[in-house]
Amino acid sequence: MTEKLILDGAIVADAIKEQLKARVEALSKRGIIPCLATILVGDDPASETYVRMKGNACKRLGIDSKRIHLNKSISTDDLIDVILQLNADPLIHGILLQHPVPHQIDERAAFEAISIHKDVDGVTALGFAQNAFGYAQYPSCTPAAIMAILDYYNIKVEGKHAVVVGRSPILGKPVSQMLLNRNATVTTCHSKTENLAELLRLADIVVAAVGKPSFIQGEWIRDGAVVLDAGYNKGNIGDVDYEACLAKASAITPVPAGVGPVTIATLLKHTVDSAERFALH
Ligand code: NAP
Repeated sequence: MTEKLILDGAIVADAIKEQLKARVEALSKRGIIPCLATILVGDDPASETYVRMKGNACKRLGIDSKRIHLNKSISTDDLIDVILQLNADPLIHGILLQHPVPHQIDERAAFEAISIHKDVDGVTALGFAQNAFGYAQYPSCTPAAIMAILDYYNIKVEGKHAVVVGRSPILGKPVSQMLLNRNATVTTCHSKTENLAELLRLADIVVAAVGKPSFIQGEWIRDGAVVLDAGYNKGNIGDVDYEACLAKASAITPVPAGVGPVTIATLLKHTVDSAERFALH
């Protein structure tokens, strides 16, 4: 039987946060406290939980967080005004607009209003393009978290065939680019892909970013593949049928305690990176 490696996101997240402590302390001695502004529009309970978790994680590390909760009926223009004020505020180092926003809002326009210097979740077109070229200061946090897990566990990417299921601008596409930049051969699948199971059976590395609980089946996974589950669905369920995929994989991220905690640690890291850059100017 193949040996199984559970890719423990809590351990990876702790390692990232441990490195941040000294940097936050050094900034604090200079009178600078890194600060992340989180914007939540509306009252979606899942989004509220994510924003609260991010705020709490900041607090535990001595990072400030400014929580902005806006009415669900706010217009795109008014939301953009709020973002522009945060761009101009020298005490704010990172801005996170929680996705998804209510349907009347032009989410792309709102994302684009975020200054590239404070785009700590890589949501702007410029941040996305920089990631594609391989020199983003702040790549999207979940894709960066997936790469951090692979690196922490010394999983070889170069030359491997990675199959990413999902092509959203914050997850599937940027993680595909990151894997490609690291010399993987990448296949990006989506809802119109006709031979998903066949493609997955060719994968050395599988990234699930679908948004459908337990969607990736064990029989689609090649023996010994590495499976990274970015999914986070109601009831703490990932996008991968965990037990069935565990039986085939050589390494797999659980849900919860897989990609999620590393995503949050990456967001904190980007906020500290940004505070350090602001301190230089
Ligand atoms: P999204 O914007 O809804 O994108 C889902 C992607 O899956 C789309 O590209 C879609 O294809 C594809 N898809 C849907 N049905 C499919 C099918 N039957 N076969 C193949 N592909 C299919 O979702 P997202 O924002 O990328 O999030 C994906 C998952 O990651 C969700 O579970 C979300 O909760 C989770 N997430 C986790 C974190 C974290 O920190 N762990 C952060 C962000 C997101 P089309 O493009 O053709 O529609």
